[in-house]
Amino acid sequence: MGRHYDLAVVGAGIVGLGHAVAALRRGLTVAVVDRASSVNGASVRNFGHLCITGQEGEARAYAELARELWLTLAPEAGFWLRESGTVVVARADDELAVLEEFRERRGGHGVRILTPAEARERVPVADGVALGGAFLPSDLQVDPREAAVAIMRWLDAHGVDFFWQTAVVGVETGTVHTTRGRVAADTVVVAVNHDVDQLFPGIAEAHGIQRCGLDMMLVEAALDQPLSAPLLTGWSLVRYAGFAHTPSAAALRERLAAEQPALAAMDVNQMYTQRPDGTLVVGDTHYRGADVTPFQPEEAFALLLEQTRELFGVSELRVRERWQGVYASAPEEFLVAAPAPDVRVVSVTTGIGMTTGLGLADRVVDELFSGAPGSLLPAGAARAR
Ligand SMILES: Cc1cc2nc3c(=O)[nH]c(=O)nc-3n(C[C@H](O)[C@H](O)[C@H](O)COP(=O)(O)OP(=O)(O)OC[C@H]3O[C@@H](n4cnc5c(N)ncnc54)[C@H](O)[C@@H]3O)c2cc1C
Repeated sequence: MGRHYDLAVVGAGIVGLGHAVAALRRGLTVAVVDRASSVNGASVRNFGHLCITGQEGEARAYAELARELWLTLAPEAGFWLRESGTVVVARADDELAVLEEFRERRGGHGVRILTPAEARERVPVADGVALGGAFLPSDLQVDPREAAVAIMRWLDAHGVDFFWQTAVVGVETGTVHTTRGRVAADTVVVAVNHDVDQLFPGIAEAHGIQRCGLDMMLVEAALDQPLSAPLLTGWSLVRYAGFAHTPSAAALRERLAAEQPALAAMDVNQMYTQRPDGTLVVGDTHYRGADVTPFQPEEAFALLLEQTRELFGVSELRVRERWQGVYASAPEEFLVAAPAPDVRVVSVTTGIGMTTGLGLADRVVDELFSGAPGSLLPAGAARAR
């Protein structure tokens, strides 16, 4: 800890690692401090779906930048990434309507409408389930178990210093205070996901940051063919901003809630990714609060499994793992705050950090080191605490 760094990053998830990557590429010296012994937060607990097309506004800009960064990093850091696109399966006319409207807005290049047969060729849903669908060719997929870990190892091999099992207890300009002493750095980025409230409660309160808990499973299923891409359903169409802002999305949301109240009550986003070993990542539910209960109701898993059997027309599913993921949730999709000069608190405050985090981080590092006024900071944020 005797060395002085250009940048100290608190948090070794994808958002913190993204800042380290951006700084390293600019020739800066970097330290990363994390209280865990390796990468094990939301950045390894997700679907690995880089849902670029479904984003809007600021999120879309970060996602598109992140797409380029992911494509460059995968061969450099040596992790699995596929240019899979995304398949959305529509099981009702109102889901097709949302997809048609989305295609109108984005154009046929980014959104290709699929016939039932074309959808069935791409993903092994049961016969007769798909009324149609869409293919979003720009989207990407990584294996969440390995991608962030590989980026961390690549950074380590390129001279970034990692301080593990080292909790940060306070941050000020020029210094990170930890349970093992001080880290000195010209600039500090705090990227601790939902734990912003532990270090900066005032910022967390001002931005309405809560925790969002999710129930997830890893499942073995005897499918007719592999999933060629991450698979979204109608539940995803009322969630990601790009789809959810189409005119037909409100009616779809109402219909889903009326027909499937148990799933709506669990705020389900029924979606799937298939890892390179063939296992299916199945999810998910959402529950929010200042804390989230650690007690995951079996009913949530039972409902997700029932939906999975129906969608793929399989009777046998073997659950290999269950886990809970947590991410920061707030009315805005991103938090960038400056509690002190040359200190930034950065969090993706909805479930799109794998998609957008690398792009957001690149922009923050640009702003910190270019000397330009903080374009990412909302007016007045520079003094917020
Ligand atoms: C179940 C689930 C599914 C998801 N699916 C997707 C998806 O498919 N696509 C997508 O784009 N996004 C997805 N997301 C969202 C995405 O995973 C997150 O937005 C992203 O991983 C957040 O990254 P992070 O670096 O901010 O947080 P994390 O990965 O949680 O890292 C934060 C780190 O900060 C450390 N830390 C906290 N406090 C301190 C402290 N005081 N001192 C030191 N270290 C500290 C923690 O130990 C942790 O390592 C999903 C999230 C979940 C939970």
